Amino acid sequence: MLHRPVIDGFDFALSRARLSGVWPIEDFPRLGPVLSSDARAVEYSLEGMPDTQDRPALHLRIRGALQLGCQRCLAPLEFPLRIHAVLVLARSQAEIDALAVEAEGPDWVVASKAMEVHELLEDELLLAVPYAPRHEHCAAQARAGAGAPASPFANLRGLLGTRETQARGKRS
Ligand SMILES: [Zn+2]
Repeated sequence: MLHRPVIDGFDFALSRARLSGVWPIEDFPRLGPVLSSDARAVEYSLEGMPDTQDRPALHLRIRGALQLGCQRCLAPLEFPLRIHAVLVLARSQAEIDALAVEAEGPDWVVASKAMEVHELLEDELLLAVPYAPRHEHCAAQARAGAGAPASPFANLRGLLGTRETQARGKRS
């Protein structure tokens, strides 16, 4: 059974605690639908440290790679992870809701006495996954690109091929 660390949010942040480890990707079921393989693990570290405005915060870093499926050719696609999320702690959801919406502002998270590190990790991984992952140099795209200018000839060849087949059919 995997050890599942739980932290006291404000205590962890204010005491500048640190935690790190390795977590198998198969243990993040919410990622399942976007993965082509869950046979890997991610390294993570969690550190209690104030944000740039001196508010209690958690710094979550994740390193590793996810095996996604390319939306164009459906082949596996390695998606490297280098996450550094700064999660500013709030005492309640109401406190977060009361904040003016800052598009470029920090991420807020409701702190509790028992925050599941697994949940923090899974949330950040889900945010990191692209909506429609594609290979930068996709084999399917390369084929489509090469085929487009040649298509008139390909069609002609196809027509000739059809006639030939029909002719042979009549002869036999
Ligand atoms: Zn592809």
